[in-house]
Amino acid sequence: MAKREKQFVEEITPMEVDFPKWYTDVITKTDLVDYAPIKGFMVVKPYGYAIWENIQNFLDKRFKETGHKNCYFPLLIPESLLTKEAEHIEGFAPEVAWVTHGGNKKLEERLCIRPTSETIICTMYAKWLKSYRELPYLYNQWCSVVRWEKTTRPFLRTTEFLWQEGHTLHETAKEAQDETIQMLKIYKEMCEELLAMPVVDGQKSESEKFAGGERTYTIEALMHDGKALQSGTSHFLGQHFTKAFDITFADRDGNMSHPYHTSWGVTTRLIGGLIMTHGDNRGLVMPPRVAPTQVVIIPIASDKGNVTEKVDDIYKQLKDKGIRVEVDDRPNYSPGWKFNEWEMKGIPVRIEIGPKDIENNQAMVFRRDLLDKSPTSLDNISDYIIDLLDNIHNTMLERARTHRENHTYKVENMDQFKKVIDETPGFVKAMWCGYTDCEAKVKEETGATIRCIPFEQENIGKKCFCCSKEAKHMVYLAKAY
Ligand code: AMP
Ligand code: ZN
Repeated sequence: MAKREKQFVEEITPMEVDFPKWYTDVITKTDLVDYAPIKGFMVVKPYGYAIWENIQNFLDKRFKETGHKNCYFPLLIPESLLTKEAEHIEGFAPEVAWVTHGGNKKLEERLCIRPTSETIICTMYAKWLKSYRELPYLYNQWCSVVRWEKTTRPFLRTTEFLWQEGHTLHETAKEAQDETIQMLKIYKEMCEELLAMPVVDGQKSESEKFAGGERTYTIEALMHDGKALQSGTSHFLGQHFTKAFDITFADRDGNMSHPYHTSWGVTTRLIGGLIMTHGDNRGLVMPPRVAPTQVVIIPIASDKGNVTEKVDDIYKQLKDKGIRVEVDDRPNYSPGWKFNEWEMKGIPVRIEIGPKDIENNQAMVFRRDLLDKSPTSLDNISDYIIDLLDNIHNTMLERARTHRENHTYKVENMDQFKKVIDETPGFVKAMWCGYTDCEAKVKEETGATIRCIPFEQENIGKKCFCCSKEAKHMVYLAKAY
């Protein structure tokens, strides 16, 4: 290994040695994020924020295609509103931050910084809604929320995080249920089509569902280290909030009814997810469709021949095809230095071009996912790169799927379960009786939790792996972030 290359690689702790340290090294050294001067808060730097913008663009388009509109509700929620739905406040109370003063004056009523906005949005919906003719309400907001978390890690769990929250009202339970599932499906497509991150979709158990809701659906991804990451949730809230907030409408028969309600959200946690799904010991490996820069062109010996002209020409060709491309012509860095820096940042494709390449009508094209370099003809290079980016996406998705399959186990009893959880972290499929007692026991004894009751059920036994009573569902379990 060349000295310079070694220096770069050594800056990142190998993931086999210390996975959390690897993660911290990667996110700080690649300039995604920095620690804020307040514990638990992060500063998202331009490279990290550009990833978030690409996630936003993908989702915002899907939300609008499915009839949703964006709006904005206040950051602060009066205490009296937060406490209206009993289970909701019970669940969120330990995580809420309060504003007690305005200037020097103590407020008559405390205001909480939104941990989620059901309560304030329902207050407004109650004021607005009159008739079934106005339904459904399909609204979303992009904002940040604050939850006073005990342990935090950039992107994965921060005190303040960026997210979108959809809040919809429907005439019937069926419409609301369909909406809940539709939005989960959009999240799943986003994870797989944009982030190349395969997810298992299913329902949360009673004890893991959203505070105040009726049913929570989730997508769960498996990280490199065998831990699960809850990557998005969609809640069927029934009439819990619409009754508590007295939202009514004149229905088709002229009676006053409470509408059915959903909410759904994904957060900046997804950025942590894609890093821990695809990264390696050299740093980030960015899935091409979400990568802020998809291709970097590095001129070699740019003072010779017509390298600069050729680089400009390739740059224009790629740009015209809508590829996010950059030229690294910094004069004071060697090509080797640049190669390593862009590899660490995970740029999917690097094009190297020097006088010899031009003589041969070719460039060297490097793909970050396979660390593979090969000469490529300059004829139709933009079409070649478009195909290559798709190929990289598919390869990364397949590789992540294979990793997940290779780290998914089946167990029949607690002994087997404990052995797997201790020795070979990953997803564990098991049959479960459906009782909260068993779930609590498993968590207590192993630290692992039921991640979801997957939609795709398999019958792998008749008895609960924990208590041996009759089994109700097959579940996925894992230790989780
Ligand atoms: P919830 O409103 O509780 O369903 O949360 C919506 C989504 O936010 C969940 O799918 C979590 O994956 C994610 N999430 C929850 N807490 C945090 C946090 N502290 N930081 C980042 N993402 C979070
Ligand atoms: Zn059981």
